[in-house]
Amino acid sequence: MTTVDDRPDTTLRRPDVSPGRLFIGGQWREPAEGGRFNVVDPSTGTVVTSVARASTADVNDAVDAARAAFDGWAATPGRHRARILHRVADVVRARADELVAVESLDVGKPVSLCRPVDVETTAEQYEYYAALAQGIDGATRQIPIPSHAYTRREPLGVVAAITPFNFPLILSSSKIAPALAAGNTVVHKPAEDTPLSALLMAEILAEAGVPGGVVNVVTGYGSEIGEHLLRHPGVDKVAFTGSTAVGRHAASVAGGQLKPMTMELGGNAAHIIFEDADVEKAIGAAIKGFVFNTGQFCMGGPRLLVAAPLYDAVVEALAGAVPHVPLGDPFDPATVIGPMAGERHLSKVERHVAQAKKDGGRIVAGGQRADRDGFFFHPTVIADLPDSSSVVQEEIFGPVLTVQRFDTEDEAIAMANGTPYGLAAGLQTENLARAHRVAARLQAGIVWVNDWAMLDPAIPFGGVKDSGYGREYGPEALAAYTRTKSVVISLA
Ligand code: NAD
Repeated sequence: MTTVDDRPDTTLRRPDVSPGRLFIGGQWREPAEGGRFNVVDPSTGTVVTSVARASTADVNDAVDAARAAFDGWAATPGRHRARILHRVADVVRARADELVAVESLDVGKPVSLCRPVDVETTAEQYEYYAALAQGIDGATRQIPIPSHAYTRREPLGVVAAITPFNFPLILSSSKIAPALAAGNTVVHKPAEDTPLSALLMAEILAEAGVPGGVVNVVTGYGSEIGEHLLRHPGVDKVAFTGSTAVGRHAASVAGGQLKPMTMELGGNAAHIIFEDADVEKAIGAAIKGFVFNTGQFCMGGPRLLVAAPLYDAVVEALAGAVPHVPLGDPFDPATVIGPMAGERHLSKVERHVAQAKKDGGRIVAGGQRADRDGFFFHPTVIADLPDSSSVVQEEIFGPVLTVQRFDTEDEAIAMANGTPYGLAAGLQTENLARAHRVAARLQAGIVWVNDWAMLDPAIPFGGVKDSGYGREYGPEALAAYTRTKSVVISLA
């Protein structure tokens, strides 16, 4: 049995992946209309396999299967659900090599990142919600009329989980684990760019004992089956992670039907280095904040704001260090930056870098594609851009860092809060009072101090403003998959 550990991935090879089918009602099957689409390895640009292109008829079947499984799963005692979720974590760890290989192949994620982050976090999420599944309680309430009054927390029903391309395993388990813990059933639609690990997870969930129909996986296009899922009257809740543009549309469609929603959308976090920071540590965190997952990280830190006295030194240090961040084959254990997940993501980054030049930005590192096959872009640092540049204001979602100067704490906070987004933010300071004072004023769902990307299933995250609403992780996520019913019994 293999386990997740710290050993280098020297033996991991690109896997051969069989063509994907749909997983509906505990059965693998071909799509009703027989369509397929290709899956591309972003580090070579070649097709590695194909998966089923589900149609609306398949989505209807998946929702029906989830509906049919709901009563049984909801009635399964929390302790028993917890045992099954623990087994999911065990099987994830036992099959970690397969998961790492498939996820790295599909997304272009360095295996050095994928094993400890994507795969281990997936196991930890199932463990975390297994623990919470045993404590889903209501409360008794004392009221002045003669009665016995209490609340019950009940599952919502069928959850549509719609996930993006960048963290397929983590962002599907951040929905499926709490949804199952609370007694819901799920139809998962992974991103069309990166559908493979969702299919492997379907196998793992079944192996762990999750009953047929409790989790169903339909692969296909957002505009076809994603849209249909949002509108489906049999769906009781939508858990969506993706871009702000699609999220806004999804919220208008599902919100119009009064479906509860969790909306995890785009981000464009500011990372502030104050003059009293430990500068060396701060520069390390700044680099991690923008190269992590090749910059395809909603909570990445693509906007570095630096106190004026440190500005020139920080820009110079970044220009020196960033070109040495190892870029290459995701299956090489030394790689830190892999390819971007697809050509469309890479061209978007190219457009932003071209715009930065027009807006007066100074490229001090990177700035172009790497000279090799696949969708590689050199990690890029752009100094001196004005706040008004679209490159500062919009989400780039690639390995690009803009560096801007500020004079006062108030100015730094105003710049940090000055985009439509509010997912994450961070600051570097050795001054404790400043750390708390600034954290309180930053408009973001999570604030990191003196490091970046510190995440755990126990720590809730989610957005404000155009970054969405609702929280994943923590007990907050479990609560989002239940509703409260009050029962009042007359004692008269
Ligand atoms: P996307 O919005 O293009 O797609 C997300 C999902 O929505 C995919 O499964 C897609 O097929 C589906 N979809 C597309 N059109 C749809 C429609 N009309 N109806 C229903 N579903 C539809 O996002 P992406 O490019 O895959 O992911 C990148 C984006 O996700 C970035 O903006 C990033 O910031 C965001 N993101 C946010 C978080 C977070 O926690 N807030 C986490 C990861 C990624």
